[in-house]
Amino acid sequence: MNRVKNFNAGPAALPLPALERARDEFLDFAGSGMSVMEHSHRGKEYEACHDEAIALLRELLGVPATHEVLFVQGGASQLFAQIPMNLVQRGQTAEYVLTGAWGEKALAEARAATAMLGGAVRVACSTGTGDGKEKSYVRAPAAGEVKVSPDAAYLHVTSNETIHGVEFDVTPARPYPATGSVPLVADMSSDFLWKKVDVSRFGLIYAGAQKNIGPSGVVVVVVSKALLEAGRKDLPKIFQLRTPAENKSLYNTPPTFGIYMIRNVLAWLKGLGGLEAMEARNRRKAAVLYGAIDANPGYYRCPVERESRSVMNVVFRLPSEADEERFVKEARARGMVGLKGHRSVGGIRVSAYNAVEPAWLDELAVFMGEFARKG
Ligand SMILES: *Cc1c(COP(=O)(O)O)cnc(C)c1O
Repeated sequence: MNRVKNFNAGPAALPLPALERARDEFLDFAGSGMSVMEHSHRGKEYEACHDEAIALLRELLGVPATHEVLFVQGGASQLFAQIPMNLVQRGQTAEYVLTGAWGEKALAEARAATAMLGGAVRVACSTGTGDGKEKSYVRAPAAGEVKVSPDAAYLHVTSNETIHGVEFDVTPARPYPATGSVPLVADMSSDFLWKKVDVSRFGLIYAGAQKNIGPSGVVVVVVSKALLEAGRKDLPKIFQLRTPAENKSLYNTPPTFGIYMIRNVLAWLKGLGGLEAMEARNRRKAAVLYGAIDANPGYYRCPVERESRSVMNVVFRLPSEADEERFVKEARARGMVGLKGHRSVGGIRVSAYNAVEPAWLDELAVFMGEFARKG
C-alpha cells in the first residue's frame, strides 16, 4: 500500500490510526456481528458510539454546561441558511464580517433566508478589496475594527477562510470581535479543534466535519442553550435547531458512519494529548511552511498579512502560473497531492489539518527550497 501525503482542502486527510480502527471494526462492530452502518441508530451499540463522540467533543473543546453539542446534516452550507432561519426574529438584522469567499456565501444565504422570514442582513465589516476577478482578502479585522449594533440578532464570522488562507485569532492582533451582549456565531469548518477556544464567548460554533475531524456528511454545532430556547418556532421542525438538541441528535436517522468516524478521530486526538498538544504540533507545522515561503522571497509570495496567516490553509504564489503548474506536478511525482489552489483564486494551497503529519511539511519545505533554487 502506498498512501500519499494528502494536502487536500476538504474532504481532507484523516489520521491513519482512525482509518485502521475503522478497517479493523468494519465487518464486526463492537462484537455485534455487523458493521456500524448496519446498526439501528436506536440500538445500544450505536448509541454508545454516538454518546462517546459527543462526550469526546465536550471534553476536548471544554464545552461548558451552558452549551449543547449537536450533529446536523446538510453540510456547513445548509447552516448558512439554517442559522438565520433560527436566530433572526421578524424585524431583526443579522450582521456579518467578511474575510473571504465562505463569509460571502454565508451572507448570501442569510439574505435569502431573512428576506423570506421577515428579517434582514448587514455587513458589519469587510476586509475585501477590489471587485470581480480582482477581489481579494488578505486579512482579518484588527481589534476594535468591527462595529456591531447592540440590537443585532448575532454577529457572524468565518473563523478561517479556507480559500483565502485568512484566519482569526492566530495572533493576539487579530482577535475574534468583541460583541458585548450580541451572540457571536462562527463558521469554524476549517479550523475546528486544532486549538482550544473559549466556547463561552460564542453563541454558536459550527463546523463541517470533512476538513478537520471526520468524513463529509456531518456538521458539528456547539450552541448556547439560551439561543436554542429563543430560536424561532415557526419553522418546520426539521429545520429548528432545538429539534436535534431535544433529541440528542437522534430525532431522525443521523449519519451514523460519519459520527462513528468522528469518534475514531477524536479518540486519536485525545491519545495525542488533546488540543494543547495539537496546537503546538500545528503551529510548528505552519512555521515550517511559512518559513519556506519567507526564505525565498524572490520566488514565493504569501499574499496574506502576517497577523492573519492561517495555520490550517497556507496559500502562496509563484512567479507565474506555469511555474505553479510545474510545482503541483513535481510535488505529485514525490507523493504530495492536493496542492493546487482553489479554482477561484489560483496559486498554491497547502492544507495542513490535524491529520497532516509534521514530517510531510518538512519534506514539502525541502522540496520548496530545491524548486526555488532550480527556478
Ligand atoms: C468547506 C467549507 C464550507 C462548506 O462546507 P460544506 O460541508 O461543503 O457545505 C463552509 N465554510 C467553510 C469555512 C468551509 O471551509
